[in-house]
Amino acid sequence: YWHAFLLFCRLTRPPFLPASSPTETLMDSTTATAELGWTVYPWEEVSGYDENMNTIRTYQVCNVFDNNQNNWVRTKYIRRRGAQRIHVEMKFSVRDCSSIPNVPGSCKETFNLYYYESDADTATRTSPAWMENPWIKVDTIAADESFSQVDLGGRVMKINTEVRSFGPVSRNGFYLAFQDYGGCMSLIAVRVFYRKCPRIITNGASFQETLSGAESTSLVAARGVCIPNAEEVDVPIKLYCNGDGEWMVPIGRCMCKAGNEAVENGTVCRACPSGFFKPTQKDEPCMQCPINSRTTNEGAMNCVCRNGFYRTDSDPLQMPCTTVPSAPQTVISSVNETSVMLEWTHPRDSGGREDVVFNIICKSCGGGRGGCTRCGDNVQFLPRQLGLTEPRVYISDLLAHTQYTFEVQAVNGVSDQSPYSPQYASVNITTNQAAPSTVSIMHQVSRTVDSITLSWSQPDQPNGVILDYELQYYEKDQSEYNATAVRSQTNTVVIRGLKPGSIYVFQVRARTVAGFGRYSGKLYFQTMTEEEYNTSIQEKLPLIIGSAAAGLVFLIAVVVIIIVCNRRRGFDRADSEYTDKLQHYTSGHMTPGMKIYIDPFTYEDPNEAVREFAKEIDISCVKIEQVIGAGEFGEVCSGNLKLPGKREMFVAIKTLKSGYTDKQRRDFLSEASIMGQFDHPNIIHLEGVVTKSSPVMIITEFMENGSLDSFLRQNDGQFTVIQLVGMLRGIASGMKYLADMNYVHRDLAARNILVNSNLVCKVSDFGLSRFLEDDTSDPTYTSALGGKIPIRWTAPEAIQYRKFTSASDVWSYGIVMWEVMSYGERPYWDMTNQDVINAIEQDYRLPPPMDCPSALHQLMLDCWQKERNNRPKFSQIVNNLDKMIRNPNTLKAMTPLSSGVHLPLLDRSIPDFSSFSTVDEWLDAIKMGQYKDNFSGADYSTFDVVSQMTME
Ligand code: AMP
Repeated sequence: YWHAFLLFCRLTRPPFLPASSPTETLMDSTTATAELGWTVYPWEEVSGYDENMNTIRTYQVCNVFDNNQNNWVRTKYIRRRGAQRIHVEMKFSVRDCSSIPNVPGSCKETFNLYYYESDADTATRTSPAWMENPWIKVDTIAADESFSQVDLGGRVMKINTEVRSFGPVSRNGFYLAFQDYGGCMSLIAVRVFYRKCPRIITNGASFQETLSGAESTSLVAARGVCIPNAEEVDVPIKLYCNGDGEWMVPIGRCMCKAGNEAVENGTVCRACPSGFFKPTQKDEPCMQCPINSRTTNEGAMNCVCRNGFYRTDSDPLQMPCTTVPSAPQTVISSVNETSVMLEWTHPRDSGGREDVVFNIICKSCGGGRGGCTRCGDNVQFLPRQLGLTEPRVYISDLLAHTQYTFEVQAVNGVSDQSPYSPQYASVNITTNQAAPSTVSIMHQVSRTVDSITLSWSQPDQPNGVILDYELQYYEKDQSEYNATAVRSQTNTVVIRGLKPGSIYVFQVRARTVAGFGRYSGKLYFQTMTEEEYNTSIQEKLPLIIGSAAAGLVFLIAVVVIIIVCNRRRGFDRADSEYTDKLQHYTSGHMTPGMKIYIDPFTYEDPNEAVREFAKEIDISCVKIEQVIGAGEFGEVCSGNLKLPGKREMFVAIKTLKSGYTDKQRRDFLSEASIMGQFDHPNIIHLEGVVTKSSPVMIITEFMENGSLDSFLRQNDGQFTVIQLVGMLRGIASGMKYLADMNYVHRDLAARNILVNSNLVCKVSDFGLSRFLEDDTSDPTYTSALGGKIPIRWTAPEAIQYRKFTSASDVWSYGIVMWEVMSYGERPYWDMTNQDVINAIEQDYRLPPPMDCPSALHQLMLDCWQKERNNRPKFSQIVNNLDKMIRNPNTLKAMTPLSSGVHLPLLDRSIPDFSSFSTVDEWLDAIKMGQYKDNFSGADYSTFDVVSQMTME
């Protein structure tokens, strides 16, 4: 019977859980090679062999016919080895009680499993006692199937496998015991183990081996650590080990860093091989470098572009690197007067990009000999100059009769990165003759009952030297066909013989050799009524009866008040349908012909003057581009101004450096308060001020060619006399306007004239501060009692007793003429200021510069008359220059001795040789010592001969 049973056991012994199962065995009865030697009472140990001839040790008991059985078998001491919950897997077979003939009712088909904890192997045959408590019962084990009959083939015999667990256990070890109380059974195998979750790499993190908890439902948390080259994406990184030794509830994860990809089922992060890259820590493989790029090492996060290839910030890293486009092909131009249409074909090579656009560079090559300059702001490009998407552009407002070179650059998103300038195709054109553009601004200067004085600005595009203007006017109720036309050689005219209190319509047009331009738009101005005129006379009465000095003060005060009041009150006459069209400042009570400058320092609060005369600009409209110079108070920058509803314009921005005092701020802004009162084509135009944010700024129109002195020095000898005279005419016209407004500049000099791209010169620098402060750091300005004076430019009476007037400005104007005609030479060269003062006092004057027409030098000498009342007025200077422009022949005559050397000062009185005993001494005194040999070689050895020297 038992043999058969054992045979069965040998044949059918099933394996325990697979080796990979997350368990750790503490004891396995099947691996014993000798007797197990468990303590029995009175189970019996029986041996056999399995098919591999391994010994199997089993325990059997079958005392079914005796009552009150209590049979125990106890394992040897089993070390716990850290486990908290112990699992016992038992294989056993149980005989079916009913199959045993005459078996008593006490026959059992179950047995009990117990354990007993102990820190050491201290058990003996009798201790602990064979009883519950001290033994702890785990469970009563019943067979799923019991067998009723021995079948030698083993087919009906059934082996049961049951697993029970207990815990927590905490002592060093324990014993197990199996209690039979009246059954017939065989304990075939016992394996004791605990469960654990194995070391694992999952979600990019590695987790150490972790033992299951004490209860079957326990979850033991384990912290994961990112594998090498991986980074946490969610923290904490955790897994829980459950009672079955299974990992569950993953939390958080790590991912391979940029430049590394997950391989070997996500257990290793490997650096991207060369030629491959991975830009992010995403769960994706390394990608091959796009075209025209390469890696420099393994583990690349991106591929760098090969030489000559680039990527924009917005180009995806997967995109091939691109390069600059080739030049556009064949530019075709068609010129129409002063406009040109350019068309071209796309570049052969776009550089691999879709974002090719075109920029137009405009250079004008007229004027002087050789050299092209960039075109100014006034040239118009349609649809725009830069970033053209279509291969065509319409360019207008060019100067007539001028050579231009247009470069059509092809650029794309990476052009900025190339060290080379964009490739371009260019075309040269010459514009045709064209009439001047329309006069856009006309003002009423003054009016009486029967006359109106008008002035207007030069057309933006004169397209040549303006010969004269034609003004046509007619009474507004009359037909245009009855219009009267008058010619004016200047941009002002007084129309007389008008009816009192009548509205007239005015239009003006300019004329050049190319003919007339178009008439300006219609403007309406009204003569005074008799009543208005009488009122204005009455207002002037106190002036007539008062003392001259008091009257003048009164007049200025009245005018100031009137102007300020008019500005504030606005124009509210409602008596005419033309009210809106009439010019704002022409209302009744102003003294005819007067609009005078108001010194901002007469305001109690100079800020009030700024508010009055300068427009506040919001800083958001201003875009500073680059620093172009240094002003007295801070940097001067160029930039753009975009006022709402207006075209963006290029502007100059003067800034007030930080850390200024209140006084400096006032002085800085005083320039804006002054400039803001002027409106003339030859006066630098104030766009506005920024005072509500920092830094405080003064924004003016941009003058492309900078200050006149340096511009001339850079272009030495490059202009025709007519061009130079044109510049001088502009300056004189601006000065006339200032003089008419009673403004005395005090610092008229070429350095304070700015030049735009059309060579239009504008008077600038209205700062007052340098006259007020006692700072002698700039040698141009010499301190005198009560302020600094630019000696070389200043009239003697202004140097001596500070008599600054428009006549002293005329003296300075003469010096500017000399600077212009000598292309920026320093007046009086390297003479000291004191020498200059002495020379002037002794009637010496600057000689004509090289190639200077005598007429111009004569005009200079007139400006340098000692007696200031004998100097010409600016209006006369303008007329004089206009005549020269109209009759260029008058400019042909050159002053004798203009042989190209620096001439000494010209003695305006009779040459005075009396203080010299020899010609050599005289030559030394006039700094012409180097010509001694020439003089003696030509026999000019006595003053007699010298005084008869001629040009020849
Ligand atoms: P300022 O303080 O007026 O003497 O200006 C200093 C320098 O800045 C000048 O010499 C010019 O070179 C430059 N600058 C001033 N205003 C302008 C402007 N409106 N356009 C161009 N450059 C200017």
